[in-house]
Parts: sequence; structure tokens; C-alpha cells
Amino acid sequence: MFEVREMQDGTIYTVNHAQRHCDCGHFQVERLPCRHVLTCFANQHLDWQVYVHDVYKMSEICKVYR
Ligand SMILES: [Zn+2]
Repeated sequence: MFEVREMQDGTIYTVNHAQRHCDCGHFQVERLPCRHVLTCFANQHLDWQVYVHDVYKMSEICKVYR
């Protein structure tokens, strides 16, 4: 679990990698890491791509156009 403070208004979002949850809701709904998640990963030197849903991976996108 990590906490990310929004620069603009100071709101703190809690990010839970294991449960793929962020307080802002984008992580759960769109299955794409939101900027809070990306910030966490950048800070922790983690590979955020493992958290991107298969649908959004380039290999999957290529299949669609075949
Ligand atoms: Zn978020």
C-alpha cells in the first residue's frame, strides 16, 4: 500500500497494488494504472506493465488487426 498526494489540491490517494485498487477509481474501472499508481511504481522502481490488463498490451492489439 502506498499513499500518493495530489499536487494540485493535496488530496491523498491510497494505492493498493495487490488488490489493484486506487482511491481515485480509475485503476479498477479502466484496468489501467492511473497516475497515482504510476507514481508509486516510479518511486518503487517497479514494472508497471505487469499491472496493465492484457487487452491493452500491444500483442493483443495487433491480434485485433490481423
Ligand atoms: Zn489513482
